[in-house]
Amino acid sequence: MSLDLGPRPWTFLLDERPPAPGRLRLVQALVNTINLETGKDAIDTPPGLEAWLSEFELLPAGGSVLDSDVARARELREALRLLIRRNAEPAVDAGAAAGTVSRVAASGRLTVEFGPDGTARLRPLDPGVDGSLAAVAASAFEAMTNGTWTRLRACLRCHWASYDRSRNLSSRWCSMRYCGNRTKTRAYRQRRNGC
Ligand SMILES: [Zn+2]
Repeated sequence: MSLDLGPRPWTFLLDERPPAPGRLRLVQALVNTINLETGKDAIDTPPGLEAWLSEFELLPAGGSVLDSDVARARELREALRLLIRRNAEPAVDAGAAAGTVSRVAASGRLTVEFGPDGTARLRPLDPGVDGSLAAVAASAFEAMTNGTWTRLRACLRCHWASYDRSRNLSSRWCSMRYCGNRTKTRAYRQRRNGC
């Protein structure tokens, strides 16, 4: 299934940009479960969160999703968005956000699992939704260690997350034709009106 996030006139442009690689896509997908322009939120109910977790194969076996899970998932989403925003806006205070993601990781009991082939990965021991959310935090950790994290960017205007593959990390907008132009037009009008 695909998540219906309501009318986004630039959706077709976003679709032209490939999603973040590997499991970092989990972070991008969670951050983009809400359209901040319209307020439409795909995970603001237990069935909505269940559908999202199911889409990314994170749904606990036999587990049910509660209202409290929805609250924690949305809290994690906004904490990750703040951390991503910091990639392009170093002045953003992400201290509380970092604490939130750390708590999610602890609640899901993230543990390092070593393989016989010399590899290791983070795995949540909690079998419920706490573990599912911790898996998203684990993908953020992996991206921070493999260097892909800083390429995940939040649009400076609408805070939609996209993966920047440009050589010099020049991406600032979800879409130049949408947020980029709207911002430039507003700046032009303000200059013209002398304010
Ligand atoms: Zn935007």
